[in-house]
Parts: sequence; C-alpha cells; structure tokens
Amino acid sequence: MIVMVTDYLVIGSGVAGLTFAVKMAEKFADRNIVIVTKGDEDESNTKYAQGGIAVVLDLEEDSFQKHIQDTLIAGDGLCNEQVVEMVVKEGPQRLKELIAWEANFDLDPEGDFDLGKEGGHSEYRVVHHKDVTGYEVERALLQRVHQLPNITLLSHHFAIDLITEHHLKTPNLEELSCYGAYVLNQKKGDLLTIQAQHTLLASGGIGRVYGHTTNPIIATGDGIAMAYRAKVLIKDMEFIQFHPTALYTAEGGFYFLISEAVRGFGAYLRNKEGHRFMPDYHERAELASRDIVSQSIDYELKKTGDTHVFLDCTHLDMVAFKKHFPNIYDKCLEYHIDIEKDWIPVVPASHYLCGGIVVDKEGKTSVNNLYACGECTRTGLHGANRLASNSLLEALVYAHNIFKYLDDNSSTPNIIDIPDWNDDGTVIPKEHILIQHNLNELQALMRDYVGIVRNNKRLSKAILRLDLIYNEVEELYKESKITTTLCELRNMINVAHLIITQSLERKENRGGYFNSDNLN
Ligand SMILES: Cc1cc2nc3c(=O)[nH]c(=O)nc-3n(C[C@H](O)[C@H](O)[C@H](O)COP(=O)(O)OP(=O)(O)OC[C@H]3O[C@@H](n4cnc5c(N)ncnc54)[C@H](O)[C@@H]3O)c2cc1C
Repeated sequence: MIVMVTDYLVIGSGVAGLTFAVKMAEKFADRNIVIVTKGDEDESNTKYAQGGIAVVLDLEEDSFQKHIQDTLIAGDGLCNEQVVEMVVKEGPQRLKELIAWEANFDLDPEGDFDLGKEGGHSEYRVVHHKDVTGYEVERALLQRVHQLPNITLLSHHFAIDLITEHHLKTPNLEELSCYGAYVLNQKKGDLLTIQAQHTLLASGGIGRVYGHTTNPIIATGDGIAMAYRAKVLIKDMEFIQFHPTALYTAEGGFYFLISEAVRGFGAYLRNKEGHRFMPDYHERAELASRDIVSQSIDYELKKTGDTHVFLDCTHLDMVAFKKHFPNIYDKCLEYHIDIEKDWIPVVPASHYLCGGIVVDKEGKTSVNNLYACGECTRTGLHGANRLASNSLLEALVYAHNIFKYLDDNSSTPNIIDIPDWNDDGTVIPKEHILIQHNLNELQALMRDYVGIVRNNKRLSKAILRLDLIYNEVEELYKESKITTTLCELRNMINVAHLIITQSLERKENRGGYFNSDNLN
C-alpha cells in the first residue's frame, strides 16, 4: 500500500477543484496540494458547459438586485437569500481572477463583454466563450495548475472512500473528522492512502444515475456517496434539474446539449404537428425556467406518446447563429440535421443536481476538515431549482470562500495512524455482466420511476426494487477487488437511495420537484 501525505487533498479536477487548488498554491508556495481525478485531467461536467457564467457587469441595464431576484424566483422560495446575495455580488471579482488566469470570453465590437441571456434571466448577463465556455475555463485553469510546482495532479486516480474515525483503530464516533481518502490508481491497480490535513470534495454531479443525461461518464455522484457513507449531512437530493433540450438520438446515453441560449436567441419549441406549445404553458414561453419547460415537454410527450419534440431555429439569422453556436451547429450536422432547414429533435435529460452535501458559506461540511465545492454541494444558492449559468459562478465563489477560510484558520499537522485499505479475501470479479446488468436496471428504474414527474406509488416501488439491486451489489463489493465500475455502481445506488427517500419526504411541489400526489 502506498502512503502519501499532503496539506490539501482535492477530489476532482473541474472548475471547483482546480480553482481552489490554484488559489491555495498561489498563496502558499510552501504547502502541497494533491488533486486526484478519475479520468483524463480535463474530463468533467465543467468541460461541457456551453452557455457561460452569469455575472452582473452592465450596471446600467442590469443590477445585482435583478440577478438576485431571478435566482430567487428560479429557486421557488427555497434559496438562502444571504447566500444568493453573497454569490451574486462576488461574481465580478471571481470573473476577474479567471481572466487573470487567461480564460478568454467573447467581446462585442465595442470591446465590452458580449453578454448572453438565458432562460429565467431578466437581463443579458451571461459571459461566454462562444458555446464552449466550460472548455475554455477548464483549459485556462489546467494551464495555471501546471505552472504551479506545489500542485500534484494525479489523473486516472479514483477516490474510493473518505478516511474518517470509522476507519481508525480507536474510533471516536462522537465527533467525526476527515483525514484524507483511499484512492485507486486506475492504470496500475495500486491502492493509495492519501493522508491530508484538509480534504475538498469537488467531485461534481450525478447525471449518470439516470443514464439519459447531458453529463459525461464521470458524473456518478461519487463524492456525495462517499460523504453519505461518512455520515455527512446531505440534503435536497430530490431537486434534479432536467435540461429541457438535449439532442434526441435513438441510442440514448450521453446526450449532447442544445444550450438554453439557443432559446434565448429566439428558437421555438414545436411538437410533431408543428404547434409551438410553450405559450400554452407559460407567459414567458420558451424563456420560462428550466423546470417549467421540462415539465411542459414531459406533458406534451405523455399526451402524444412521442419520444421527442423539436427546436425550430429555421427563422433565425443563420450568420449570427453560426457565430454564436458553432459547436451546436456542427454537432447537429454530424447527426445530419441542417439547422437552417431542419428542426432539431430534443428531449429533456438529467442535467444538474441542485442539492447535495450540505455546506456553510465557507464550504465546511458537517465533518471536521472536510470541505465541499461545486455541483456536489447544497449551498442554498439554487433552492428548488438552479438558474441557468449560476453553477460555474457558485463553484468559483465557494472555491474562493474555502480558500479564504483556510487562509484565516491554519491548523497544526495532525499525525495519526491510518490503517491500510483491507482487501483480504477479495478476488477480481469474473462476471462483469453482473455490474452492467445492475447498472442498466438502476438507470431504467430511475428514469421510469423517479423522473421529471413523480408519484408516491412509483417512488415506493422504486425503493423496493433498489433494495434488491443494493443487496446484490453489496455482496459483490465485499468479495471483489476494487474496480472503478463496481465502485461507481455502488455510489450511484447510494445516490439513487438519497434521491428517492428525499423525494418521498417532500410533501409539496417546488421548483424542479414535481410529484403528482402533492396536488391533492
Ligand atoms: C452539458 C452541460 C452544460 C452546462 N452548461 C453550463 C453553463 O453554461 N453554465 C453553468 O454555470 N453551468 C453549466 N453546467 C453545469 C456546470 O458545468 C457544472 O455544474 C460545473 O462545471 C460543476 O463543476 P464541478 O467542478 O463541481 O464538477 P465537474 O466539473 O463535474 O468536476 C468533477 C470532477 O471530479 C472528478 N471525480 C468525480 N468522482 C471522482 C472520484 N471518485 N475520484 C476522483 N475524481 C472524481 C471528475 O473526474 C471531475 O474531474 C453545464 C453542465 C453540463 C453537463
């Protein structure tokens, strides 16, 4: 067993983890930061963010108050107003830092930021880099990480579990602290104990739990599951945001996202008959918030039995469209959809988790020395539904706040004796089909029983079925050598359990959560 000791262990290399690591490393050249990430270093939800970052910059047309108000409306009464104010007001400062790290954002002919407008926003305030903003942010942050000698980035390293009192020989379960994590070197198969003074979970979202998702394959909710097993407080898991317009393909899997900004640009949603249906559902039509658009599409699909609806861009200025959305334009062409003439087939897909690991304004979790940042967290910013382009902003702000907290509260090294990972008596699983079968079953269960519109009967059935999958996979886990796919499946089962149980606990419909039994 390999043992590493570091000041800060960061789990995840998306915007949240990288921003924190860069800030810490820049300020404290004498402290070490280890980032572990389970895929290629840039693979993350961050890399696929298209629309941009919501920041109030034009104080003539826009104001912090308007952005706060839009966020509160989307959150449907469940946002923490102080958090919303703090995040919105810190936006411009955090954007400046990103620019200092050489992230590029589009400018208009006058040299001002070319601000986009997205669903739920009352003003133009979304800074972007064409339609590949996340790719640009990830590129710039990784470039900065590689310039800093006190950061060690270990790609293809999978965090298996957090180390807490539960693993120590003399556990004190009264007050829990985190001492790092057990990590699997995915290429060599080695197990590492990484002991850290402070551990940051920046492990992103959970989209894969639903199978049909805009998220890449890394989004299996590992950080949330690890935190759950370590008894960390987790909340609001019922608030899953389904993106209304993912490009529909018959194969399913990883759905390419047709950004909100395309509707902001004037595209219409039509059903198979060609009827523009959104005005029937909401006065803001295609620009209503995500949950309303997703639920409206869900109604249309249930009514007609169709598999998808369409996004019509044929009336739009195509020169401007191609300039704003070159990636979307090209992607559609790959699927033989010519946006100038053809409507784009779209369907809602699991996209973003509003809840997660509960953190305070400084990113502290309910376990000592364990922090969390980004999509795996529940900060109180999103409430029952996230306003578009608020999540990159949230990650930037909280990475900064955790950095500030640790800057102000240095602690002395805590030397403890951590036992090695114990895999005595385990063998390499011979039948991968058991993992794949349970994964398929889990994803179908989540789509069919725990989707956009839920009800108590389906949720209760889902728990029973999930229990069967859980028992089978736990048995496999106990007798098997650690593999990434098995750990991810186990994590997704934990996450599914949290989503279903917390859905059953919510007795009223709010934001992105809709249970037809709550109407009675
Ligand atoms: C298609 C798409 C478009 C989006 N568009 C926008 C947008 O325009 N604006 C906006 O604000 N937001 C957008 N979002 C949401 C936003 O991109 C994410 O919420 C945000 O990037 C999350 O950042 P993060 O750092 O928390 O997580 P991620 O960027 O997902 O990073 C998580 C990291 O953790 C690693 N990891 C996970 N588990 C483990 C483990 N067990 N061991 C080691 N490493 C692990 C992953 O490999 C990854 O590196 C979009 C999301 C998607 C999918």
